[in-house]
Amino acid sequence: MACLISKSTGVYRPRQPLESDFHRLVRQHWDEFRAVYADRYTRKIGHWRPVYDKAARHFLKCGDLKYGFARVRCPDCRHEFFVAFSCKQRCICPSCSQKRTILFGLHVSEGVCLDVPHRQFVWTVPKRLRIFFRYHRDLLRELPRLAWQTIQTVYRALLGDEATIPGGVFAIQTFGQLLHFHPHIHALVTDGAFTPSGRFLHLPVNLGHEPFLKLWENAVFSLLLGAGRIEPALVSQMRSWRHSGFSVDRSVRLRAGDRNGIQRLAEYMARSPFSLARLVKITPTGHVVYRAEKHTPQRFPIPTSEVLAPGPARNFHIFKPLDFLAQIVQHIPDKGEHLIRYYGHYSNKARGIRAKRIAETADGSPSSKHAKPNPARLDHRRWAMLIQQMYHVDPLLCPKCGGTMKIIAFIEANQGNVIRKILQHCGLWDFCEKPAPRPPPKPQTPRRKESFPLFHAALPENAGQVDPDFLEHLRYVRFSQLCGM
Ligand SMILES: [Zn+2]
Ligand SMILES: [Zn+2]
Repeated sequence: MACLISKSTGVYRPRQPLESDFHRLVRQHWDEFRAVYADRYTRKIGHWRPVYDKAARHFLKCGDLKYGFARVRCPDCRHEFFVAFSCKQRCICPSCSQKRTILFGLHVSEGVCLDVPHRQFVWTVPKRLRIFFRYHRDLLRELPRLAWQTIQTVYRALLGDEATIPGGVFAIQTFGQLLHFHPHIHALVTDGAFTPSGRFLHLPVNLGHEPFLKLWENAVFSLLLGAGRIEPALVSQMRSWRHSGFSVDRSVRLRAGDRNGIQRLAEYMARSPFSLARLVKITPTGHVVYRAEKHTPQRFPIPTSEVLAPGPARNFHIFKPLDFLAQIVQHIPDKGEHLIRYYGHYSNKARGIRAKRIAETADGSPSSKHAKPNPARLDHRRWAMLIQQMYHVDPLLCPKCGGTMKIIAFIEANQGNVIRKILQHCGLWDFCEKPAPRPPPKPQTPRRKESFPLFHAALPENAGQVDPDFLEHLRYVRFSQLCGM
């Protein structure tokens, strides 16, 4: 998706989400996808979940001025433009996913992780067992807890102290490089553990992955046996294999204080299943050429294989339009389903206790060198940092005079008549007119004659280019003003 940036001025110019090939693909094929889903996809990726429709409907409105916007104006030269609202949908919206990922990276690196060494862990399950996690998301949600238990058990045994506690941020990922279903767990874990007094104990440097692997294997087998998904005979059979298919990787270590490394890893853990950067092309017929993250060819599962049998090695795949939608929606979490977990010293409870302790100190300074973050300070700069990291420009810089742009009004989605009038007045209604997602929004009938302030300045050339990411900041500014922050 293009983000237009004026290289001469470094001024941020909002993107055009409705013009992207991916938006067009969803717009054109969603209704057909929904209609054929039961016949064509239920057996492959499970029953239709209500969250699919909700995600698509919201995504198709993301960045669309017709569904509400903020008016932003420069107080110095009166330069003005509109900023549409964002959808905040997971997986399906590249813009909102990217924003979420960057915010998560900042949150983990500055608000969660302490200045101690960390390791990235990755736990995987054999192909033979993945199918159970595809159809039973309750089992999928158990995997981070099992992975965390392997950490806690091994660490405590090595340190010889049952009272020590590590800290970990865990993420459920369900996708492989070419969008196929591949449930696994990523985690950022302290490379040691804390005593009750807050002292950090380091782990031996020559520790391998073997102790974790055996515990992980046993835990996953127990989970599936307990849920009645597999029989003991299968466990015996798989244990006799030379390679069971389970794996635990802990090869990436970050030294204490490597905030950038933590941020990069956290972003990697929370990234969206698909990336527009790897979407090579969408043909006029809707066929999608999608490439893998790495150039090394991989054995991609055969799409029709129910047991994920590997096909020929490749680092790209060409999807039919409906197949591409199916590959994406299977990774959308259910409403309220958390893919990120915080455990041990990094649990919400432990962080809350430490924050309270810091607040209670007379000068507000941390009571120990490992105690840390003040999340409140993150709020002040999170949006500016977000946009800076995404686009490397200052989004509030007036492109005309260099002043600071300010919000002057919110036009909410339920003000359909007002929205239409404003956009028509500015000659933007036809520009925004696109085939609407279903069910179509019902225009609101005003009870009285609506009015809106006239513009005092000529609209910029890019007035129709909208940026959903602006809204976060604008609402935050309004909230800050209300709270006197
Ligand atoms: Zn969005
Ligand atoms: Zn200006």
